[in-house]
Amino acid sequence: MYNKRTNNLSFHKNKDIYYITFPSFDASKLVRHCFTTRLGGVSKDSYQSLNLGFNTTDDEKNVNKNYELLCEAVGINHENLIFTNQIHETSIKIIREDDLTKYNMNNRIKDTDGLVTNLPNVALITLYADCVPLFFLDTKKKVAGLAHAGWRGTVKKIALKMIEVFINDFDSNPNDILAAIGPSIGKCCFEVDSPVAEEFNKAFKNTNKIVYSKANNKFMINLWEANKEALLEGGLLASNITVTDLCTKCHKDIFFSYRGDKGQTGRLAAVMELI
Ligand SMILES: [Zn+2]
Repeated sequence: MYNKRTNNLSFHKNKDIYYITFPSFDASKLVRHCFTTRLGGVSKDSYQSLNLGFNTTDDEKNVNKNYELLCEAVGINHENLIFTNQIHETSIKIIREDDLTKYNMNNRIKDTDGLVTNLPNVALITLYADCVPLFFLDTKKKVAGLAHAGWRGTVKKIALKMIEVFINDFDSNPNDILAAIGPSIGKCCFEVDSPVAEEFNKAFKNTNKIVYSKANNKFMINLWEANKEALLEGGLLASNITVTDLCTKCHKDIFFSYRGDKGQTGRLAAVMELI
């Protein structure tokens, strides 16, 4: 049923867990990856049901169970997950061999919104409720990355900074990098005041596709176009960029939405590991 909602994403159901993948990443056969929905977990009420967030009032036992269910559905070893505490900044951490014993679910990497690795069987994970999930994969050098781009991370161009890490630390050629911009709050629902709109006007060139003026000095922002512009600025080929067409606030039946649920809501996850 969900396939009808989009042409850019693939929906999968394994047992009760629904999750999304990007066809270009699937075709590479280099990664296991997903963006989760809220369907198939054990959490209740506002967190119904696949809540993967830690800093909420949801019972931790439920969150742990949700991780088990997700990992089983996607085929990722629970112990491979590497977590961060996200702060809406642009700090990016490269996961090296000696990090693997340091970080886990209870010991998360501090103050980090981007993760990159070339190690197989290391499952990068970032969490979302309306912010933009960004997926990266260098298919030649076999390097994977995830970034959490809220409006602040989008304006500060974490998308571009991720590409710079690929180039500087892994010798990537931007032509070899696939990117995907996943479900988040869309321009249909992301209304901001003029100081925020002004930040976008300053940071981006094609603002006619990014900032839409409304009555009462309010503006609608297209975070997907803004991140796409940053990816193109980083040298990615337009044909290598998948852009979602699903707004998390418009599809509250399948996604958690911070704005849609007025702050009391669960968290969705982007997960990716090199095989
Ligand atoms: Zn919407």
